[in-house]
Amino acid sequence: MEVEYNIILTGPVIVKKIKSVIVAGIFMILVQYPGNSLLAQQAATVNLDAINPGRYDTTWWNRAPYRLVQTNLRETDAGMDVDAYVQSMADASASIVLINVGGIVANYPTQLPYHFRNTFMKGDLVGDLIKGLHARGIKVIGRFDFSKINESLAFKKTEWLYVSTAGKNVNYNGQVHTCINGGYQQEYSKEILKEAIASYPLDGIFFNMIGYTTTDYSGNNYGICQCENCKRRFRDSTGHELPVKMDMNDPIFREYNVFKKTTSEKLFDEIGRLIKTLNPKLMINTYSEAGVDMIASESGSDLAPEYEWNYSATDNVKRVLGSYKDRSPGNLLIYFQAIGYRHVGTSPNLAKVWLLENMLHGAPLGFVVVGTLVNYEDRIFIPALNSLYGFHKKYEKLFTNLQAINKIALIRGSKDEYEGIIKILSEEHIMYDIIEPSAIGTGRCPRKLEDYEALILGDVSNMDGRLAAIIDEYVKNGGKVLSTGFTATKDLAGKPMNSIRLQCLGVEPAFELFKRAKSTYLKISENDKAALGQTTFKDFSIMMMYSDFMKCKTTGNAQGLMRFLPETRFGPPEKSYYTQDNITSYPGLVSNAYGKGTTVLIPWALGEQYHLKGHYMHRRLFVAALQNLLRVQPDVTTDASPLIEMTHIGNRNGAFEWIGMINQSGQIGASLREPVTIYNTHIRFRPAKAIKALWLMHSGKSINFKQSAGWVQCTVPALNDFDMLLCLY
Ligand SMILES: [Zn+2]
Repeated sequence: MEVEYNIILTGPVIVKKIKSVIVAGIFMILVQYPGNSLLAQQAATVNLDAINPGRYDTTWWNRAPYRLVQTNLRETDAGMDVDAYVQSMADASASIVLINVGGIVANYPTQLPYHFRNTFMKGDLVGDLIKGLHARGIKVIGRFDFSKINESLAFKKTEWLYVSTAGKNVNYNGQVHTCINGGYQQEYSKEILKEAIASYPLDGIFFNMIGYTTTDYSGNNYGICQCENCKRRFRDSTGHELPVKMDMNDPIFREYNVFKKTTSEKLFDEIGRLIKTLNPKLMINTYSEAGVDMIASESGSDLAPEYEWNYSATDNVKRVLGSYKDRSPGNLLIYFQAIGYRHVGTSPNLAKVWLLENMLHGAPLGFVVVGTLVNYEDRIFIPALNSLYGFHKKYEKLFTNLQAINKIALIRGSKDEYEGIIKILSEEHIMYDIIEPSAIGTGRCPRKLEDYEALILGDVSNMDGRLAAIIDEYVKNGGKVLSTGFTATKDLAGKPMNSIRLQCLGVEPAFELFKRAKSTYLKISENDKAALGQTTFKDFSIMMMYSDFMKCKTTGNAQGLMRFLPETRFGPPEKSYYTQDNITSYPGLVSNAYGKGTTVLIPWALGEQYHLKGHYMHRRLFVAALQNLLRVQPDVTTDASPLIEMTHIGNRNGAFEWIGMINQSGQIGASLREPVTIYNTHIRFRPAKAIKALWLMHSGKSINFKQSAGWVQCTVPALNDFDMLLCLY
């Protein structure tokens, strides 16, 4: 029988033989027992009593382990059984409940003349719910939606309303769209908030859909609001007449986009300040980073033919955790199938994966249902919700005061490029943080830029001189940069500058843009293979490149790799060939040393390509650039299936660390089925300190490991839907 070693755990482990060793300078006692011994694995249970995770700050929401359930109540829910509602939240282990308080419908007896009172309500729904939930220790966030007003009130105040480019208001099911620059959103919203906050002991405020909404729930777009308030305010602040068309080539439209951002943020900040003045303990939540404590985002399906974004929740929570030390991610799993199908759930397997992404990236949990957990007609996911939330509650300490352990940061650029790079990093188990470009250099990021060994700039095309200077300085001081796409070629508002404004990349600022064309390739020479890695490039000497491309000239000692081969003939087959003369001298990759640091420029949209086709060549090039050219070596190595998403999270108080594993398998086309069990995943990693025990928290058992020279090696015997490999020091 195979013999393995395990470090002593609490409980009656059957000891066959004891010996002592010195590992990493620490005296330890080892217990020897037969491998695969169920006795050894079942005898002990993890004891977390001695663990003190500490706390992040004095707030109750920041880097804190809460579980939110948002019930988007219909008017008709006003007659609900409040006790049953409260019990359903206790059954779900919810620690925060988000309920509709006011705006579109007031679920309390409002005294304000322009606040529409729920006609289905007999008493005081908000008052009863808060009383019941608080009695069970559950916090309550009040939801307000100021984007629309009931038609019975709207036309008495037409100056509050949105006006389409056709000169019309929008009335959707009796709710009329309001304009952000009108008096309802600017002033009356504050009266409503004042009344609700004065009347009820709420714990937080969420406001929905404030801002420049141009579409209705059916997806019709009515264009840029043309109301008198918008016209006047835009003219006063820019000197221009309001644009009518949404056209990024129009400089006035680009100015309008900046105007939208600054005016929305001004209102968010004002409302945020008002709420804090009324009650400083209230937590503020909406879909903005301005004026809030929790940044709302959603992971949900829709009716589009494209497959869902598998890493949606990963994306949403990591970009908040990586960018803002004073903001909590409030990512919500939208349980319904689509906006047009509110009463049935999405795939329960996808729903679980998205909730797990929140949890195993160290973010709080969020779940949205239309109606209540009591009366929702599709019950299939409710047991899974209760089970996952229950797991989170049971091990709450392990989700407290966390920080991802990553030495690479992905700076968020254009959507497809960004998503493609997230796919590669996740499939390759390369751990990374995500940072919003606007947060860099503001002092708001949880970690300093120089704490990262490498930055990935994934087509961060819009960039001001300030950020470009910060990146150049980072490389000069020893940082590593992998830049893809058209990074730093436009100003912050999106105006093309026709030059690459990062000096560190080893190319002349001027470039010529080649527009995407079929049958364009990159040629790979033997020299290129020697630089990029013989093993990974042994099977091919040409690479697909279906993207715009910057024809760049290298400067100094920068090294160009691969050669641009544009628009070769692809039909008929007899004519499908190219000659040496067709191969240009423009490089498909530029490697450079700058100051104490190094850079790689890939002057085309590699991430977008991977997002499109998931092609192995693009993945191999990306990994080669990171590991062979920039020499960024991972702290976690594994033979895990690419379908396992892994995370590496540490406690900021130094009490523990864990590796999260999400089994993303089970998808074929649009079908999202149960994940396939994955056996014998080997993991080798470098913990922050020597470890004494390793536990699989979901499987509920300790596992064997080897530890030497600061590295730990172990095997995860089987991964069903997810697990957490907990390291105790
Ligand atoms: Zn307007």
